[in-house]
Amino acid sequence: MDNVGSNLQAVRNAIAQAARTAQRCAEDVALLAVSKTFPAAAVRAAFHAGQRAFGESYLQEALDKISALRDLPLEWHFIGPIQSNKTRAIAENFSWVHGVDRLKIAERLSAQRPQTLPPLNVCIQVNVSGESSKSGVSPGEVAELAHAVARLPQLRLRGLMAIPAPAEGLAAQRAPFARLRQLLQELNAQGLKLDTLSMGMSQDMEAAILEGATIVRVGTAIFGERNYGEK
Ligand SMILES: *Cc1c(COP(=O)(O)O)cnc(C)c1O
Repeated sequence: MDNVGSNLQAVRNAIAQAARTAQRCAEDVALLAVSKTFPAAAVRAAFHAGQRAFGESYLQEALDKISALRDLPLEWHFIGPIQSNKTRAIAENFSWVHGVDRLKIAERLSAQRPQTLPPLNVCIQVNVSGESSKSGVSPGEVAELAHAVARLPQLRLRGLMAIPAPAEGLAAQRAPFARLRQLLQELNAQGLKLDTLSMGMSQDMEAAILEGATIVRVGTAIFGERNYGEK
């Protein structure tokens, strides 16, 4: 945990380097620190090293951390799969939800978002690498879902998210990210106003930035290896 500050700086440097290569502004690539499986103390250390936005995948673990860190001005993003019995707690406690892939879930999040809070920022998760992932809509289904989600009053549809299958080498990593960027451009050409591509993790962040990522979701490179992996 002592390394969180220096790891964060290394990740920021890598983002800046990739942005330079892509001839983009580093400020246009937001860093979401994925703190799942790590304790509140690790989040606090990252906060003291200048990080504000944190991503969590497991609801109960996230709620415990959010509660333990109420004294800090943090921005919480839910990035895990969403079960319908969890939507109320997600709508009440998070600023962003990255993994929306069903209209029913989006409708519940909108209905349950407290009126006292700003609209919940959401991304639609797209399955851009075929078989590998069970989550996400297929590229052919994105437009219909996006237009429906964009009409929900307490949500603000911001863009698209993907978790491509792991791939070796920059070219292979870039292909699914390029597909996601193209899908976002198509939606904007249809009149939606989307500004977010949530793509890229510790292993493929450079490829994602080269293809236009506006949020990279980075866990391991900041907090270290997760001991108990995916629950
Ligand atoms: C765990 C997780 C990440 C972070 O992955 P790392 O490889 O540790 O950087 C990013 N996005 C999602 C959706 C995750 O579940």
